Amino acid sequence: MKNLLSKKPVVIAGPCAVESRKQILGIAKNLHKMGVKVMRTQLWKPRSSPDSFQGVGTDGLPWLKEIKKKFRMKLCCEVVDPIQIEQTKGIIDVLWVGSRNMQNFELLKALNEDSRPVILKRGFISTIDEWIASAKYIGKDKVIMCERGIRTGADSTRFTLDINTALVIKHDHKIPIIIDPSHSAGRSDLVPHLACAAMASGVDGLVIEVHNQPSKALSDAKQQLTLKAFANLFIKLKTLS
Ligand code: PEP
Ligand code: MN
Repeated sequence: MKNLLSKKPVVIAGPCAVESRKQILGIAKNLHKMGVKVMRTQLWKPRSSPDSFQGVGTDGLPWLKEIKKKFRMKLCCEVVDPIQIEQTKGIIDVLWVGSRNMQNFELLKALNEDSRPVILKRGFISTIDEWIASAKYIGKDKVIMCERGIRTGADSTRFTLDINTALVIKHDHKIPIIIDPSHSAGRSDLVPHLACAAMASGVDGLVIEVHNQPSKALSDAKQQLTLKAFANLFIKLKTLS
């Protein structure tokens, strides 16, 4: 984890999901050129509907190997089953627990056995105590918390970004915290504004969805930034950190 957050704040970027070799290598090449050091490369997608795209799974592992070799970026990937912890060894640097699995305790216990850092997203209706209890299952010394928006009475956006709790995690609990403005907003036009607000609040980093052709994305098409929009935001973020 020290490695991942050695140059704070970290900006993790990449598509919602790995869709094909061409898609993920193309995005990696562009992000690398911009100076992005850590990429989100999700192979398994826990989706609300069984009819939605579920991810490419292990078929994508060779593509990620290629990215690591070519661009030397650190890769993060959500795991939804303990078996994937073993399958991603040597390729994925940072494991990740999605919002819907924050209280999947068997998964959390299995992650405790692995030495890699783990990003733990907040369940979208979870309290801070529940979130911290989940972090303890993984191991507080290697966990990075991720606030991704919660469900509230405010329904004008997909979720409500709870920067308050993010700051309590950082200042009272001294656990590293990053913010995901993409899932919180649910719409790409608001993402740069939320990203800047989060960065200015002093959190340890951000995770932002970026796609080569957002309108054609197989998941979360409305909230992914184009490469150009992300490039502009990335420059702005550097002035805030
Ligand atoms: C994600 O970041 O890939 C994701 C699915 O988000 P969340 O788990 O926060 O819904
Ligand atoms: Mn997504």
